[in-house]
Amino acid sequence: MPIVFLNGEFVDSEKAAVSVFDHGFLYGDGVFEGIRAYDGVVFKLDDHLKRLYNMAKALLLDIPYSKEEMADKVLETVRRNNLKDAYIRLVVSRGKGDLGLDPYKCSKPTVVIIADKITLYPDEMYQNGLKIITSTFRRNSIQTLDPQIKSLNYLNNILAKIEAVKAGYPEALLLNLEGYVAECTGDNVFIVSDGTLYTPPSAAGALGGITRATVIDIANKLGIPVVEKYFSLFNVYTADECFLTGTAAEAIPVTEVDKRVIGDGKPGEITKKIIEEFKNVRTLYGTKVY
Ligand code: PMP
Repeated sequence: MPIVFLNGEFVDSEKAAVSVFDHGFLYGDGVFEGIRAYDGVVFKLDDHLKRLYNMAKALLLDIPYSKEEMADKVLETVRRNNLKDAYIRLVVSRGKGDLGLDPYKCSKPTVVIIADKITLYPDEMYQNGLKIITSTFRRNSIQTLDPQIKSLNYLNNILAKIEAVKAGYPEALLLNLEGYVAECTGDNVFIVSDGTLYTPPSAAGALGGITRATVIDIANKLGIPVVEKYFSLFNVYTADECFLTGTAAEAIPVTEVDKRVIGDGKPGEITKKIIEEFKNVRTLYGTKVY
């Protein structure tokens, strides 16, 4: 069983207990990060912590550690579990309060760090591509809960995931309220048309993904033009290539959307090049664990 970090202590995950009065549990009041370590290097840890602290700031949630202290705790959690490759989940909730939703009645935030493994999709899908559908649920609007905040309220995305899985698909694409493509349930989306890479801007309802930023850097390095712009399902259906990016999913090709075959139905050449390069750089930008 993994050893987890819980409020300053390292404990057996079986014994790690969070109060039922924790507002993360009662109200989804909190934020989280998903981070990967590759071969003993935590990928872009600083970027993940920057995003975490920014999200907490937006929610007026004071994380009780500095970023440096938190980085140490993340590294220590990976070490305690003797992992070189890991998926790390960092959760900060408002903490224990009463049954009302007033966050100012919560004494102190709860901080949890888990280092474990994750497999989102079978290998076969990384080789041959995902077939996905568009959800009838829309991505949260920036006028409500800003999709930039990875809050503990993922119900919008979970409803889309349920819809996809019930329909026999592993993943769903979400549109924003205006009907523009936003992202998938836990991944950013890219399309390739006539040699140019397109991805929706944050304002369209896409999380500022760290894998997304890495892919944009890779494309720049490879001389592939990248444009952040609003686009519709028409652009997806008629794209030459499509792929998704996310910490857990990494980079995975999409070969069918709503029964429309993308390109020739196989992972595209630019997609493959980017995925290949992603594998090369993922141990380069990070913090050493050991
Ligand atoms: N969108 C959503 C809704 C997500 O939950 C994630 C996963 N964090 C992503 C996109 C991808 O972001 P990242 O590459 O930073 O993991």
